[in-house]
Amino acid sequence: MKQPIFLTPTFQERIWGGENLRKLYHYEIPSEHTGECWAISAHPNGQSVVKSGRFEGKNLSQLWSEYPELFGHYESDHFPLLTKILDANDDLSIQVHPNDSYARQFENCELGKTECWYIIDCAEDAEIIIGHHAQTKEEFMHLIENNQWDELLQREKIKPGDFFYVPSGTIHALCKGIIVLETQQSSDTTYRVYDYDRPSPSGDKRELHLEKAVAVMTVPHVAKKVEPKVWEMDEATITTFVEDRYFTVYKWEVHSRLELVQDQHFMIVSVLEGEGTLEVNRHVYPIDKGQHFILPYRIENFVLNGNMSLIVSHP
Ligand code: ZN
Repeated sequence: MKQPIFLTPTFQERIWGGENLRKLYHYEIPSEHTGECWAISAHPNGQSVVKSGRFEGKNLSQLWSEYPELFGHYESDHFPLLTKILDANDDLSIQVHPNDSYARQFENCELGKTECWYIIDCAEDAEIIIGHHAQTKEEFMHLIENNQWDELLQREKIKPGDFFYVPSGTIHALCKGIIVLETQQSSDTTYRVYDYDRPSPSGDKRELHLEKAVAVMTVPHVAKKVEPKVWEMDEATITTFVEDRYFTVYKWEVHSRLELVQDQHFMIVSVLEGEGTLEVNRHVYPIDKGQHFILPYRIENFVLNGNMSLIVSHP
């Protein structure tokens, strides 16, 4: 089947969420505390469902197991990636994620979680937390016990269009006023280090996981800067943000036309800005901001027409 597969996202409410996913993308969100749009997901905690066509109504993990030819028989028990859009209307907890081997052993065979962020929009003074200043685990614990968060945590100012690579083991957090597209391994395991002592809507504080966090975190912090590679053409620009073990992530900026070959097992695509069409095998599909789709195996040539900006990834 050489057609794109359009998906319907699911939404997750979070204490730090807001209403920006409706304002920006006209999504029907469940409440004014909607934190996450799981746009392309086969994770059991929030599955994308096929919107139309032959596979309409099937979820992505069904597609993965029943039609492996769509994904070029990519070798993995589970769909390996997860694309989210996050609305950090308030600060997220300071957190860290395990790697594959720790998650396999202690989290019921989950994958580890290496993630990356494309900053869609943010407040003028917005910051992220990425990394820490402790040289040893003892120093880390000492600073936490004394509530010396400013001495411990490394902050960085951000602007729209920035990209950050966050390997498993990195202490990190989105701070308030940020909309992000996250490309990550398909995992939902987070160890919280600090949650600003704030209560959840039910009145309790959310659980912390300090022991596991310290077990999996990288000490001292190792900064992983990625240098984007930009390829400018007359009618489009392709930026490659990262090519690493778990994923390759691009931005395609289409000024009028972009013709490419789908030469991967599959590609996952999110339209972040603008509108236009996708032409595959002489079929023309209208696309616009907020849509997410998969280009399955061996689609070969395809053409994007219009004026739009897309984030694309593949394993
Ligand atoms: Zn995270």
